[in-house]
Amino acid sequence: MKSAQNGTSSNGVKIKSDVAQGLHDLFVDELKDIYWAEKELTKSIPKMIKNASDEKLKKALSEHLEETKSQVTRLEEVFSSIGEKAVAKKCEAMAGLTKEAAEIMEETEKGVVRDAGIILAAQKVEHYEIATYGTLAAFAKALGETEAASLLVETLNEEKSADKKLSKISDSINVKAADEDEQDTETPVATKKKRIVSNH
Ligand code: FE
Ligand code: ZN
Ligand code: FE
Ligand code: FE
Repeated sequence: MKSAQNGTSSNGVKIKSDVAQGLHDLFVDELKDIYWAEKELTKSIPKMIKNASDEKLKKALSEHLEETKSQVTRLEEVFSSIGEKAVAKKCEAMAGLTKEAAEIMEETEKGVVRDAGIILAAQKVEHYEIATYGTLAAFAKALGETEAASLLVETLNEEKSADKKLSKISDSINVKAADEDEQDTETPVATKKKRIVSNH
């Protein structure tokens, strides 16, 4: 096992392997966490699609749902590449993010405002995934698990492009949602000058 920098010690070799073992265990634990999270998303993205109105948003979410299903399979390949069994362990963060997504959908009227909320919730998910896969790919590299690393980078790139696609869609949705407020209150909420207001 290729590993990391370590302090000097009289029994340096032993400490080195302990450290690597520690990172390996953390790596496997976090793989179990994101494996649960991706499986959870295969159930919660369909709810977002059902609640969305904008056709581009529905299409982007549907495409990412298919990607998400393949990410579940890819994680199984990651587990097998490191000689571990694929086990899911509840991710409290993803459970919270999907619960918040459900709340946003309940608390908004169907239409552009709910769509803006769905994009918000979906991008929180993508950012969580980007953070997770970025770190897991780095762990895999540090541990010398090159196959796992390249699989994780593949998923990382899908999450990044899903996030970018959602930002692009938010351009028009946010402005339409603000215009809806404007019509309700007869008070301009968005300046007429800046008509592209995308997330991130
Ligand atoms: Fe994912
Ligand atoms: Zn988690
Ligand atoms: Fe927070
Ligand atoms: Fe994703």
